[in-house]
Formats: sequence, structure tokens, C-alpha cells
Amino acid sequence: MTGVTIDSVTKTFQDSNGEIVAVDDVTIDIEDGEFLVLVGPSGCGKSTTLRMVAGLETVTDGSIKLDGQSIEHRQPKDRNVAMVFQSYALYPHMTVRENMRFGLEESTDLSDEEMDSRVEESAEMMGIGDLLDRKPSDLSGGQQQRVALGRAIVRDPEVFLMDEPLSNLDAKLRSQMRTELQRIQQELGVTTIYVTHDQTEAMTMSDRIAVLNEGRLMQVGTPLECYHRPANRFVADFIGEPSMNFLDVERRGDDALVTSDDGFTYPLSSAVAGDLGDATDLVLGVRPEDLVVGGGQTADKHTLSATIDVVEPMGDDNVVYLQLAAADVSLVATVDGMRRLESGESVTVGLPEDAIHVFDRTSGDALH
Ligand code: ATP
Repeated sequence: MTGVTIDSVTKTFQDSNGEIVAVDDVTIDIEDGEFLVLVGPSGCGKSTTLRMVAGLETVTDGSIKLDGQSIEHRQPKDRNVAMVFQSYALYPHMTVRENMRFGLEESTDLSDEEMDSRVEESAEMMGIGDLLDRKPSDLSGGQQQRVALGRAIVRDPEVFLMDEPLSNLDAKLRSQMRTELQRIQQELGVTTIYVTHDQTEAMTMSDRIAVLNEGRLMQVGTPLECYHRPANRFVADFIGEPSMNFLDVERRGDDALVTSDDGFTYPLSSAVAGDLGDATDLVLGVRPEDLVVGGGQTADKHTLSATIDVVEPMGDDNVVYLQLAAADVSLVATVDGMRRLESGESVTVGLPEDAIHVFDRTSGDALH
């Protein structure tokens, strides 16, 4: 089994406007058997990173290792990795069986019987055993994606590389395939690097997430680490739905965070204050699900009066848009879907101190 090391890797492209740094000094150690998701907004360098591991792009600087061995000099077919694309990339003139066999014929010297039995085994695993003699044009999008995955599995690679493989499927199929892919990955124990821009996919499927922005690595951690202890404002904003609330605040003395209009004051305990060092220009962050929306009087120093602007019922939850009474601050909260709340209603909103995040406004780094 095989771990993958992406070691200080940079990739630059030249275009008519000059140099583009697509991947900027990224280091990630992916453990043997791990399911790592590379996530980030469009253009952040996810696909380029994956394509360098596959050997479809050269590395400008740094190195990529499989089990500690540099592989930059190896041709894609000699890397023993299997890549699955969003577009499926099946050969239209071949049957499913031929599509699945093709990669084996290229990369192994198995006998015909061995190839057939491997194809059948992988097809069973992907639930496409009865489609082996059909052409891709006679399959639904979901079935074609199963074939593309089956074609990767049949090669018994050391590493799976997947580039948004579920993006062309509808929402229901996508969530079904997520579960199935996870099951198969666990069953086979093959190290997997999976690219997506969808944070829900990243949160639900991965052992660890690597968050990229503008070619740079923002954080590598388990989904819960990235959610509860984001390394910076970018990760805090990207992970979580609806996104974290952010308020620009200044630090006054040792004991309060205050908005520039002085309307919102958040008293700090010494434990939080101690984490902030000398920084004065800060951003206070609190997740919508951590806000406590109540009907009663303002109860403590971390609870404020607010008015409800809009309530969006989402089924299990209501997403509630609030306006604070004392400051020009809007907040988004999620509350239980059974709660009856109306726009225009006055409520209290609590920002519990154990749920707040504080970021340096200039660097974006998490201080608390
Ligand atoms: P998406 O989710 O939209 O696919 P991504 O995160 O996968 O985005 P990449 O495709 O890796 O991003 O692209 C990273 C940056 O490199 C982008 O600015 C892109 O325009 C640029 N880039 C990628 N491939 C090339 C290329 N062959 N030539 C020039 N620039 C490129």
C-alpha cells in the first residue's frame, strides 16, 4: 500500500499575460489508505495538483513521491495511479467490458481469463454487472460514471485520483454515489485523492480535507478540525453552510471587542483576551448554528436584542436573518425547523463565548 507526498510543489503556467502561479509551494502528506479531499473555489489549483500526481502536468518545483520514491520522471502509465474524470472519458465505440479491459491491456500482462474475471469482479462491485455488453451511449449518466469508476478499480491501482467525479449527477444520485464511493474506498483501502469544490462532499467523504485558495494550502485537517478550529478566515468562511458570520471589530483595552459605530460591544474573558496578543483590528466570527435565538429578555452580557428580517424554512432548520438593534450588524442564524418565527419579530440573540472565533483582520489568521 502507498502513501503520497506532495512536497513543496509549485506549478507555474505561462500565458499571454505572463506567469500564472497555479500551485504555490504546497506540501501535503497523504497517508496509506487515506481518503483526502482537495477542496477550494474555482481556479484555486485543485485539478492542477491532482494532474501533477497523475503525471498529466509536470512539476515546476518540488517533488511528488509514492511511498517515499520521487515519481516526477515516471510516465503516467508507470505511476500505478488511476484517474477518474468528471466527464467520464469513456470510449464511445467500445462496450462497457471493452472500456474496462482497455486500461488493463495497456498496463498489465494478465491473461485473457484473468482480465475477464477482474472486469467482472469490479463490475459487480460497482453494480454494473448486467451492463457489460452495452455501449456508453446506451447508459444513463449515473451508469456511465459507475463504468468510469469500475475502470479505475479494475486496474487495482495504488492510488485513486478523482477530479469532481460526481459533479454531472443530479443531487439524489450524487449523495447515493458519495456513500457508495466511500464504502468501496474503505473496502479496497486504496489511498484516494479526491477533488471537489463542494464543501459538503469534502466534509462527508474525507478522512482529511486540504483547503486550497489561490494556489496556496490554507489548512489540512479532519473535517471536524477544519469546522471547529479553522486556521484562518478563509477556511472558516469556506467550510460550513450557511457560512460563518463575520463582524469587523476593534479591541478596546483588554476587555472588549467593539464595532466601529460603537453599537456592538462584546466583553471578553481573560482566556479569550489572552489569545489575541497585540492585535487590535480583528474579525469576530460565529457560526449560524451557534447563535442562540431566544424570545425573552436580554439575559447576559453576550446576548443582544435583534429583529428578524427574513425566515427561510429549510425543513429540519429555519435559516433566520437578523438585524441587531444597537448596531448596523446583520447576522444569519439557524434554528430548529419546528420553531415558529416571523419577520419583524423582536428576539434576543446570544453569541456564547465558547462558540466565537477571532481572526486577525489583516492576515486572516485565527487567533482564537
Ligand atoms: P476548477 O474547480 O474551476 O476546475 P481548480 O481549482 O481545479 O479549478 P486549476 O484548474 O488547477 O483550478 O487551475 C488553477 C489556475 O491555473 C487557474 O488560474 C487556471 O486558469 C490556471 N491554469 C490551469 N491550467 C492551465 C494551463 N494549461 N495554462 C494556463 N493556465 C492554466
